[in-house]
Amino acid sequence: MTEIERHSYDVVVIGAGGAGLRAAIEARQQGKRTAVVCKSLFGKAHTVMAEGGAAAAMGNVNPSDNWQVHFRDTMRGGKFLNNWRMAELHAQEAPDRVWELEAWGALFDRTKDGKISQRNFGGHEYPRLAHVGDRTGLELIRTLQQRVVALQQEDDKLHGDPEAYIKVFQECTVTRLLKDGDAIAGAFGYWRETGNFICFEAPAVVLATGGIGKSYVVTSNSWEYTGDGHALALMAGAGLINMEFIQFHPTGMVWPPSVRGILVTESVRGDGGVLRNSEGKRFMFEYVPDVFKDKYATTEEEADRWYTDQANNRRPPELLPRDEVARAINSEVKAGRGTPHGGVYLDVSTRMPAEEIVRRLPSMHHQFKELADVDITREPMEVGPTCHYIMGGVEVDADTGAASVPGLFAAGEVSGGMHGSNRLGGNSLSDLLVFGRRAGAGAAAYVDGLTARPKAPEEAVRQAEAEALAPLEREGGENPYTVHHELQQTMNDLVGIIRKADEISEALGAIEKLKERAGVTGAAGGRIYNPGWHLAIDLRNMLLVSECVAKAALLREESRGGHTRDDFPGMSPEWRRKLLVCRLDGSTVNIEEKVQPSMRDDLITLFERDELKKYLTEAELSEYDALVE
Ligand code: FAD
Repeated sequence: MTEIERHSYDVVVIGAGGAGLRAAIEARQQGKRTAVVCKSLFGKAHTVMAEGGAAAAMGNVNPSDNWQVHFRDTMRGGKFLNNWRMAELHAQEAPDRVWELEAWGALFDRTKDGKISQRNFGGHEYPRLAHVGDRTGLELIRTLQQRVVALQQEDDKLHGDPEAYIKVFQECTVTRLLKDGDAIAGAFGYWRETGNFICFEAPAVVLATGGIGKSYVVTSNSWEYTGDGHALALMAGAGLINMEFIQFHPTGMVWPPSVRGILVTESVRGDGGVLRNSEGKRFMFEYVPDVFKDKYATTEEEADRWYTDQANNRRPPELLPRDEVARAINSEVKAGRGTPHGGVYLDVSTRMPAEEIVRRLPSMHHQFKELADVDITREPMEVGPTCHYIMGGVEVDADTGAASVPGLFAAGEVSGGMHGSNRLGGNSLSDLLVFGRRAGAGAAAYVDGLTARPKAPEEAVRQAEAEALAPLEREGGENPYTVHHELQQTMNDLVGIIRKADEISEALGAIEKLKERAGVTGAAGGRIYNPGWHLAIDLRNMLLVSECVAKAALLREESRGGHTRDDFPGMSPEWRRKLLVCRLDGSTVNIEEKVQPSMRDDLITLFERDELKKYLTEAELSEYDALVE
C-alpha cells in the first residue's frame, strides 16, 4: 500500500478546457469549494486549438439572425437527432455567454461599426461565429483562466487564501470515479510527474474531459483525447448516447506524413476557399444532397456572388455541413481524382489579396509555411478528412448537465445529445460555455440539496490504486504502444468515415482481442513521469470507447450525419427516433434502444412541413399537421 494524498471538495471538475473552466467558475460563484483537475498543464486544454470561433446568434453582421434560426440550423446539421431541448438552450443562451466573455476581458475581432465580428461557417445560415482571427480557443481559455485568477484574488482578500474556494490540480490524471452506494463520492488519480496517487472526496463530479480522437490514426485531436471521461462515466454506471456519430472534419493536412490529420480550419472555406479535384474541377456542386438542394448555389457564378451579396444568392456548396463535405472528398479520392498525397486541393489564394489572407488566417498561413513549405497566399493546400469530434457522450439532463448517476454531471465534448448526428462548426465553443455554466450550477444545486455527504469506501480507493499500479508490476507484459497503434489502425480502417457490417464486426473481433492484450500490458521503468505507464492506463478507456462506437455503428442500420453505412445508405425516419444507449455490464458494453421524446409544439412549428417530411415518420407528420391546422 502506498501513501495517498487526500483532499475534500464540494465539486470536483475533471478537465480544464472551456467546459471545465466555465463549470468551475459557476460552482465557485455559487459558493462551492471547487477543485479543477486536468491531465495537461493548466491552459493547455484542447480548447486552445479551436480556431474558427464560437457560434452565437447575436445578429451583429446580419440582423436577420436570431436564436430560432440558430436552433433550426443546429437541428438540420444534426439531421434532427439532436436533443432539441439542448439545441434550444444553446441557441438562446450562446449570445449571453459570448458577451459575458467579453465582460471578463476577451478581445474579439470587430465589425466596422465596433460590434463583435461574426464569420460564416458551414451549415450556419448567417455569419455567426464570434472570433479572434483563427485563434479563438486560445482567447477563450485565456479569458476563463483570467476569471479563475480574479476569483482567487477575491478569495485571497476574503479568506487569506487564494485557493480557499477554487484550486487547480494540473498534470493530474483521474483514473476512477468513486461511489458510495449509487451516488458519486469522489475521484481517484495520479500525478503525472511523480506517479503519486491522489484522492478527492466530493459529492459532485463534473466531467469535462473532451473527446476520443486518439482511438484513430488520423486525427486533429491532441494527446489528451483518450476518451477518459466517457469511460469513467460508463464505469460509474452512466449511459453514453450517440456514440456511433463521429465527425470526420473534411479538411485535415495530408502531407507531410508527420502532420497528417492536423486541422485546416473551416474558416478557410468560410472566407472563400474552394475545393478542387486533380482535374481542376470544383466538385462540391455534384454532392449537394436533396435535403439541402434549395439552400445551396448550383453554379460557380452564384456561389462566388454569395461572398459579396448574401441576400440574393445561395451559399457555396463548400459550406455544406462537415459530414457532407468529408464524404464528397472521400468519394473524389476513391474515384482516382485525388492529389498526389491522397487529398484534394483547397484554394483561398485566388479569393483575396495575400495581406488579407495573412490577416484573416494567420495560423493557417504559418502552419502550412512551417509544416509543409506551402504558401497559402500563392498556392492551394492539400487536404483530406480527419477524425475530429465525437457527437456521442454522457447522456445528461439538458437543463442541469446531470447524468443518471446521482452526483455525476458532464459538459462539453464528453457529453452527448446537443449535436445529434453531426455538429456544426463553431457550435462546440458555444456549447462549452452554455452547458459548462449549467453543469456547474447543476452540481452546486445538487450539493445544496444533500442531507449527508457520501463517503467512498476505502476498499474502492485501494482497488483503484491496485488497478493503476498493475502495468508497472507486470514483467515482460505487452507493449502498450503496439496495442494502441493496432487499435487506432482498426478504428481508422474498419469504423471510419464509410462503414459496412462485416468490417464493423471484424473491428469488434479485433477490439475483443486487444482488450485481452491491454489487460496484460506492462510498462518498464518506475512511477516518475512514465508515459508508457500512462498509456497502459489510458488504453482501457480507448478500448471501452471504441467498443461503444463500433457496437452502436453496427446496430444503426441507416446513414445519418457522422455515421455512414455503405450497406444502408439512406436516412430512416424510424431510426431518427431511436437513441442507442451504451452501458457497461462487467467488462462488456451492452446497448439499449431508447425513444427520443417528441419536439415541443412551439419548436416543431418553427419548421415547414416540406422540410420535416425528409426526417419525420408518417405518424409524427400527422401530429404536426394537427398542430398547424
Ligand atoms: P477540452 O478543451 O479538450 O478539455 C479537456 C480537459 O480534460 C483537458 O484539460 C484535459 O487535460 C482534461 N482531461 C482529460 N482526461 C482527463 C483525466 N482523465 N483526468 C484529468 N483531466 C483530464 N469548436 C468550435 O466550436 N469552434 C472551433 O473553431 C473549433 N476549432 C477546432 C480546432 C481544432 C484543431 C480542434 C481539434 C477542435 C476544434 N473545435 C472547435 C472543437 C472544440 O475545440 C472542442 O470540441 C472543445 O474545445 C472541447 O472542449 P472541452 O472543454 O469539452 O474539452
